[in-house]
Amino acid sequence: MGVRVLVVEDERSLVRLLRAYLEREGFEVYEAFDGRAGLDLAGEVRPDVVVLDWMLPELDGLEVLRRLRRFSDAYVILLTARVEETDRIVGLSAGADDYLPKPFSPGELVARVRAMLRRPRSGTGPEEEPLRVGELSIDPSRREVRLGGREIALTAIEFDLLAALASRPGLVFSRAQLLERVWGEGYFGDDHVVDVHIANVRKKLGEDAAHPRYIETVRGVGYRMRR
Ligand code: CA
Repeated sequence: MGVRVLVVEDERSLVRLLRAYLEREGFEVYEAFDGRAGLDLAGEVRPDVVVLDWMLPELDGLEVLRRLRRFSDAYVILLTARVEETDRIVGLSAGADDYLPKPFSPGELVARVRAMLRRPRSGTGPEEEPLRVGELSIDPSRREVRLGGREIALTAIEFDLLAALASRPGLVFSRAQLLERVWGEGYFGDDHVVDVHIANVRKKLGEDAAHPRYIETVRGVGYRMRR
């Protein structure tokens, strides 16, 4: 099945350029020029990847992202002219998987999408047993997480991050190891994305940052799942 990429960006010349590059890779490309249209189209075509500009008419990229996350776990790359660290954290916390500061080369965007597709996703191999840690149950085959029986909705990246940690409770994973395992070897971004996504997972699990029941921070090293 073809990979569907939705580009939501009001700068039409950039959309044309991205379309040309993405189609050359064999992706099915859909485009929208404002936030509302982008959200509607995402509901219709169920894209695998969304390239989402932050500054958009109608609904801005962050609002699109928040609403998109109610029904889609598509891989979202946020395009942003904002380079402040706090802005990047805001974007990733709202549910983006990756961000690309403008200006960027279309080749770089294509490389990121390809790296995403190479990601060693759990749940695509043979039937795997659910992982259990305390009240937490992670089912790689169905890509489902339950906490005390209640289903927790995670994005694809958040799921893979949690599954990676839970695969070896007690073992510390460095940020670099998690990036390689979850984002894939071709990932170009910085370690910071790991922290933001861990924070998102913790929030969804209702973790108390000072006394985490599941994901522990190992200062100066990385993270580990408690036994
Ligand atoms: Ca724009």
